Amino acid sequence: MEGLGHHCGVAGIFAPKAQNLPELLFYMLFSLQHRGQESCGIAWEEDGSWRSKKDVGMVAPTLSAFAGEHHPSRLGIGHVRYSTAGGSGIANAQPLIVSCNKDRIALGHNGNISNGGLLRSHLTEQGSIFQGTADSELILHLISRSPAQRREVFLSDALAQLEGAFSLVMMHENALIAVRDPSGFRPLYLGFKDDAVFVASETCALHALGPMDYREVEPGELVIVDEDGLHSYRLPHRAPPSKCVFELIYFARPDSEIFGESVHAARTRLGEALAEQDEGNLDADIVVPVPDSGTIPAIGYARRAGIPFDFGLARSHYAGRSFIMPTKGQRELAVRLKLHAVSHVVGGKRVVMIDDSLVRGTTSRIIVGLLREAGAKSVHVRLAAPEIKWPCYYGIDIPDRDQLISNRLEPDDIAREVGADSIRFLTQDRLLKAIGGEGGYCCACFDGKHPFPPKTGRKETA
Ligand code: SF4
Repeated sequence: MEGLGHHCGVAGIFAPKAQNLPELLFYMLFSLQHRGQESCGIAWEEDGSWRSKKDVGMVAPTLSAFAGEHHPSRLGIGHVRYSTAGGSGIANAQPLIVSCNKDRIALGHNGNISNGGLLRSHLTEQGSIFQGTADSELILHLISRSPAQRREVFLSDALAQLEGAFSLVMMHENALIAVRDPSGFRPLYLGFKDDAVFVASETCALHALGPMDYREVEPGELVIVDEDGLHSYRLPHRAPPSKCVFELIYFARPDSEIFGESVHAARTRLGEALAEQDEGNLDADIVVPVPDSGTIPAIGYARRAGIPFDFGLARSHYAGRSFIMPTKGQRELAVRLKLHAVSHVVGGKRVVMIDDSLVRGTTSRIIVGLLREAGAKSVHVRLAAPEIKWPCYYGIDIPDRDQLISNRLEPDDIAREVGADSIRFLTQDRLLKAIGGEGGYCCACFDGKHPFPPKTGRKETA
């Protein structure tokens, strides 16, 4: 996989008896590192005060000191960030913490508000001051402006004005709050262990703390956990279900459950669907995944097609991310340092190379070249997703349309461009059938049918 930015991940804990919550939040965020690598942070209550630690950078260097310290606490939240809206600097690192007319609030947000530009423009015209550029700050302004005093009412007031994707964790006074937008774009889970309540973007962050019962936060559900227990409310507005299908294809960790579905099982079925699509049309000797994102669909493909599976591409776990290299030559070198074709596996073979999706095509061209250098007789590229042609307004960083190879070329031309003998994308119908999701998933980056078009402010569009 190349060139799609992860988005964000959130975590939260309410414990009736004080525990070392910063340490637990560190473990949870460490498990969510794949959802954002630009900044991270935690906020927690200790002795009645609120404290926080956040910085640009990865979770381990920023927060691992908490594994050796003791901070008795009953309430805390955390966040890992990849900047899909707003910049990547410390001003946009979360949790955001404010003191306002509703008392202290801390917020962590996963998603993008598609009418954020319009709301920000209105608020700015009315005198609001924003510290960062991320649209998450809007939510705090809207909460502060609600005339209501009851917590669930001012939260509903504020959140009803938002369009797009928001899975939120918040601290307010002594309560932990978890909210998922009515379309359910991003996943959000509740965990229960020893009277404590946990919130996490994915179940892998709950399982990092040991076995526990868990359930999904429903689309449109507002959960408040305080000393009186767990209270569930419904946001007042409705929206069509639009779970992000890319969470299952690529973003979520394979050992997680999201949208009530095992990510591993879903990816295996995508591979099987790819094989069914090829049935009777492709003779091959070996199925080779592009690690790591192509591995599980490749297992499904090989099983269904009855073709042997093997690791014909070995991955170095010590190489950095290739897309931050400034020149084409350096990027190519970075891919070569990261992936090595195993000639013992692919030499003289007709190879089916499985990846999750195709963005710009540059990395695939290099990988196909590596397989040929290692002696592959032919290379047939198969993608476990349809062609990406449109932007995402809900929290995924997709390059500009003219950089997406599927907007420039037809599949046969793409095959020529990346040096493959053939290329095929999983069709959207087969994708939805494989995940059992007809009607409930957003597929806008494939078909351009965005559930909420972006709304920007007058000043931004002028
Ligand atoms: S546009 Fe694509 S990446 Fe964005 S939410 Fe929809 S399916 Fe996910």
